[in-house]
Amino acid sequence: MVEHMKWWGWGRESVSFSHSDKPDLAPFVRTNIGLDITRPPAQPPAFADLTIPAPTLPEPLRAALVAAVGAEHVHTDAHMRVVHAYGKSLRDLVRIRNADLGRLPDAVVYPDGEQAARAVLAAALDADAVVIPFGGGSNISGSLEAPRAETRPVISVDLGRLDRVLEIDADARLARIQAGALGPHLEEQLNAQGWTLGHFPDSFSHSTLGGWIATRSSGMQSDKYGDIAEITRAVRVVTPAGVLATRPVPSQSTGPSVREMILGSEGRLGIITEATVQVHRVPEQRVILGYFFPTWDDALVAMREIAESEASPTVTRVSDANETRFSFATRKKGSLASGLVSAGLKQYLRRVRNYDLDAMCLSFIGFEGTPTHVKAQRKLVGEIVGRHGGICVGTGPGQLYDQKKFDTPYIRDFLLGQGAVADVSETSASWSQLGPLYRGVVARANKAFAEIGVDGWIMCHLSHSYHSGACLYFTFAYASPVTLEAIEGYDTVKSAIQQGFLDLAGTLSHHHAVGVEHAPWLDDDISPAGVTLLSALFDGIDPGHNLNPGKII
Ligand code: FAD
Repeated sequence: MVEHMKWWGWGRESVSFSHSDKPDLAPFVRTNIGLDITRPPAQPPAFADLTIPAPTLPEPLRAALVAAVGAEHVHTDAHMRVVHAYGKSLRDLVRIRNADLGRLPDAVVYPDGEQAARAVLAAALDADAVVIPFGGGSNISGSLEAPRAETRPVISVDLGRLDRVLEIDADARLARIQAGALGPHLEEQLNAQGWTLGHFPDSFSHSTLGGWIATRSSGMQSDKYGDIAEITRAVRVVTPAGVLATRPVPSQSTGPSVREMILGSEGRLGIITEATVQVHRVPEQRVILGYFFPTWDDALVAMREIAESEASPTVTRVSDANETRFSFATRKKGSLASGLVSAGLKQYLRRVRNYDLDAMCLSFIGFEGTPTHVKAQRKLVGEIVGRHGGICVGTGPGQLYDQKKFDTPYIRDFLLGQGAVADVSETSASWSQLGPLYRGVVARANKAFAEIGVDGWIMCHLSHSYHSGACLYFTFAYASPVTLEAIEGYDTVKSAIQQGFLDLAGTLSHHHAVGVEHAPWLDDDISPAGVTLLSALFDGIDPGHNLNPGKII
């Protein structure tokens, strides 16, 4: 049976975040948002205490679903329905902690291939039911929830049984992979044959190929491997008009790209069952180095020059001063990183390099390939970093970051338990706009914190560099009772940041999709005519609005 995340939060039941091995964290949080995280945490509600309405599944529809996938793969039990009802946005998590479950799906079905997915869709359309494809359930844009007022039966189609790498074309370096494969399972199968997809979002452990495609995901090594939009070379999608299949050719001139229309479609055009993706040989060497820059502005210019240069790092990431301080506060006692800001290094940075330690920024830059290639890349990047006052602090911090990156998502549930809300907003903009956008967004967030009367914290990192610009990823947090009212305060802050993106030449999201969370800004981002075009596309393929209605538009 397919493993799911815990129904009330991120990841596995057996894993959680703790402050006890991070001595600097509690004082840091107390100073910056006035919260004592050493208190015993509030627990999420017990599953048994939830009120779960009975499913509405007309008998002919149930029978047709059973015929499509087999009785053991049609589930109507409470736990399955709750797990498939939402993603992991802050709004979702606050609602769950307050037992506000919204419109649950009436049934969860598991097709085992394209044929079964076609039969499920046909049955749902015959019964005028709603179909919501489900990958890992990790989205944070409200991309999975059925509209609260939905009166038609709602079917969650979980792709978890479609989890195999089907074929690898070694000459073209293309792999055909089923859409329900979770990150680790997919990489395991590829690695066993010496290949990698190179797509590693922070949600890697609990998200799927189909979900990545349907949300236009981006992974931390996108600088080398590309975003999922570039990695995905062809798709197979079960739609109301039949099976949509594109060809895995390197480039084509066949009118507007149908492949691109599927990318980011959030289940509104059909069920993605399979994709052909670009894969690469597992690199001989992989190194992530830590660097310090004296200021954020120096770091931004260095990142731009690296993007312009002949260097081709896999990762270019730099944290602003606040995020750098947060990183130091989360280091474990006795860890590799505890030596990172040793007294000696601090003294050197201050006295010899004239660093203001409160302004300095931590960066990670990754290199992959043959040892000769890695060496040459490191040299090129090192020269650029040096020109902007930066210094390399070796592989220790990079190794630590690499090891703990998939555990970091557990911190949000920990903070909710302690009485704080935390969330993220990310955008992309051109190099010329990044500085003003950063400053403007931080100012707007601070104004929003004042408006709702909290001591708020906002920090940012740059990741995913391109020729013309980069992604800025903001994280914000403040102490708040975790009640449904907390969502109003959250909306004030989140909206201020999102509006800032649009006003300051950014996009509503670089890789978290639209869902319902970002839909209010779509007009501003792609223009009203763009929204008309998308509406026509959705209405054309799905006139009954049976496919994940209410998302994107
Ligand atoms: P789901 O959440 O199950 O679904 C998302 C949407 O895609 C829904 O609309 C669903 O209907 C649709 N969908 C899913 N599968 C299919 C299919 N087979 N056919 C058609 N439609 C489908 N995102 C990033 O890009 N990079 C990150 O680094 C990143 N880090 C994250 C860290 C955390 C802690 C969290 C909570 C989220 C993060 N995300 C990140 C967001 C999320 O992981 C992505 O949006 C991911 O691509 C969703 O994949 P999923 O399989 O979980 O999809």
